[in-house]
This record gives sequence, C-alpha cells and structure tokens, in this order.
Amino acid sequence: MTEPISIAEARRRVLDGLRPLRAEPVALDAGLDRVLAEDVRSEIDVPPFDSSAMDGFAVVAGPGAELRVIGESRAGHPAAETVRPGTAVRISTGAAVPAGATAVVPIERTEPGGGAAVLVPQTAPGQNIRRAGEDVRRADVVLRAGAPLGPAELGVAASVGRRDLLCSPRPRIALLVTGDELVDPGEPLGPGRIYGSNGHALAAQIGRAGATLAMRASVPDTAAGTRAAVASALEVADLVCVSGGVSVGEHDHVKGALRELGVRERFWGVRLRPGKPTWFGDRDGTLAFGLPGNPVSAMVTFQLFVRPALAALQGADPQPRRTSAVLDEPIPRHARREQAVRVRLRADHDGWHARSTGAQGSHMLTSMLGADALALIDVGDGEVAAGKRIEVELL
Ligand code: AMP
Ligand code: MG
Repeated sequence: MTEPISIAEARRRVLDGLRPLRAEPVALDAGLDRVLAEDVRSEIDVPPFDSSAMDGFAVVAGPGAELRVIGESRAGHPAAETVRPGTAVRISTGAAVPAGATAVVPIERTEPGGGAAVLVPQTAPGQNIRRAGEDVRRADVVLRAGAPLGPAELGVAASVGRRDLLCSPRPRIALLVTGDELVDPGEPLGPGRIYGSNGHALAAQIGRAGATLAMRASVPDTAAGTRAAVASALEVADLVCVSGGVSVGEHDHVKGALRELGVRERFWGVRLRPGKPTWFGDRDGTLAFGLPGNPVSAMVTFQLFVRPALAALQGADPQPRRTSAVLDEPIPRHARREQAVRVRLRADHDGWHARSTGAQGSHMLTSMLGADALALIDVGDGEVAAGKRIEVELL
C-alpha cells in the first residue's frame, strides 16, 4: 500500500473528471427517483386561465343584489355567456371565470331569489378567483437539472404538460463478491464457512443509490477466476464493485486482476477505520472499486466513495447530506486514521444528538443497525468530548 490518503482526498479522486451518463427521455410514471437531466421550463400558465376557488356564482363585484342567473360554467365546460351587472353565472370549483365576471360568491353566502335569480351579498373584486399563472408563470423554470424526481416533481412536471422528462440513466453496476468461505443464506454452513452478507447489503445500497445490477457473481479466490469475472464485469458495467480479496494476502487477487486488465489505479488505501484497504481505479470511463471484505467496511466505503460516484454519474449532487449533532458520549480518536463512527440520532430541544450504535468492529455488522449517520472523526489524540457539537453525514 502506498501512503494511505484521507477520506476527502479519496472522494476528490473519485469525483475528479467524472461525467454524468448520457441522458434519455423517461415517461413520467417511470421517473420516480431518477435524476432530471434538463431544466424544465413551463410553456403555459398554471392554472392556464382565471378559475373559481369555490362552488358559487360568478358576478360583477359590487353591493348586495338580486341577480338573474344566465348560465353555468362547470369544470372543463366554460360558459358562453358574458356576466354583466344584474346577472350571474353559476360556477363550480376549477371552472373558468366567465367573461365580465370580477368575483365569485360562494354558494353558502347566497340565497335563492325569485325564479332563476339569486341573492348575493356585497363582494369585492377578485374574491375567490384563482388567477392564471398563480402557481407557475409561462416561461418559468419549474425544475432544474440535477433534481431527484420525487412525487412532487413528477406532479409539477405533469401540471405543465410534460409527458416525459430527460433523465440520467440508472448506472449499471457489476457486483462481484469474493471469498471461498462464503455460503448463500438458506444453504447449510460447512466447517469454516460463513454466510455471505456483503452481496446482499451492497445490492441494496446500489438500489438505494439509483443504480441497477447489470451483473452479480460470486467469485472464487483464484487468480484465474477473479480475472475472468472482472473481465466480464468491465464489459457490461459503468461501475464495477468488488467485495473482498483486495488486501495483501496470498489469496487476494482483485488488485492484480484489475491492474492486469488495464484498470488504472487512482488510489489504494484510505486513512480510514473501518475501510482502510479500499482500491479505486478506472478504465475508459468505467470505474472500479475494490471494497474491503469486512461487512461494515464494505458498507461504509460504499457510502463514502461509491455512492457519491453513482450520484455524479446521474448528474446529481454527490455531496453527502450533513447536519450537526451534540455528542451524548465521548468518542476516542485514532492516532493514524479517520473514523467513520455509526451513530444514532435523536431530536432534542437544542437539535440533534448523536450516540454511537455500540461496538464498532469492522466485522460487527449489527453496528449498522439503526445507524442514521456517520460521524467522521479526525485523526488525533484523546477523545472528542461528550457535549461537543460535531458534523455528521446522514446515511
Ligand atoms: P477479505 O477482504 O476478503 O480479506 O475479507 C475480510 C473479512 O471479511 C474476512 O473475515 C471475510 O470472511 C469477511 N468477508 C468477506 N466477504 C464477506 C461477505 N460477502 N460477507 C461476510 N463476510 C465477508
Ligand atoms: Mg477474502
């Protein structure tokens, strides 16, 4: 290992020169959790016309009076009549305000008059009218490139008449899991074997990060097997993610395979606990990560390095969401490594408070349970004292 680098430097190298994948049109109903790749400018006013906020009568604003009802404007069926003083048009919520009308009187405030007439109280101009363009003005940009599409974004896009949106594709990931000791959950455990968890946790993290699995394979701890798997992975994926086999043991073949296949090393080793033996490189725009096999290290390094890469490939903001929290217990510093301490957050009157999830061994996957955030603790002596306010990165 060369001199291990800081978390920040490793992230810088991951994002350096990374370009978003080429965008494609996506139908609205397939757009949830995609990242928008265009600015969406409205070509219309929303609402497109002055409309009624109430069921009632469209009138010319003025003093209380008995008015002759001359027509009706329903939602989707505007009235042909023009409202003049002394007349009214019956109107429904969302219906177009007819020509001549300057206010709407809600039905609850009227009384039936003689014949086809209605008694209305005094009204001021503009009452109960939703103006055209009150929500969106024509030529307004309603959504910006880089926005993740949630239900509200999809609704707003629909409200301005867009049927599909230019979005970044979901990055295709090849997930390779190494380790002769690994057994699939549900199978019997032989001597010296353990159930493999990384494939499942990482596949879920990949899905959460908006990417899809183009390939998923269990790889034996042999040079030939590793090389063959990495070679096919590099053919099918935008990003290759290998778990385990990246250390310096005699049976760790991942770095060798990546190098032999022409993947250029961009870093090897991060001054991080857990997650020191992390490798990153690229070949012709395809990214490759060798993540440590220890289950916590694999999940933490995915979060710190792979997730930002997946965000950037989708044209989204790769910066993690941060908040500050008061430490409820001291955290010892490490003399040579930054630490990613899994913490639980709780809200109190002075804001968020953080407490570690418990024992932090890199093999103790239960320390990820209920973790809301990572507290990134700098290298140093002593401890970060209880009561101190620290920055945390939300998971
Ligand atoms: P390695 O990075 O391959 O040296 O693995 C480091 C440690 O992580 C070893 O104890 C492995 O057994 C363990 N490990 C590797 N892959 C997995 C996995 N998929 N699930 C659970 N533990 C794993
Ligand atoms: Mg291994």
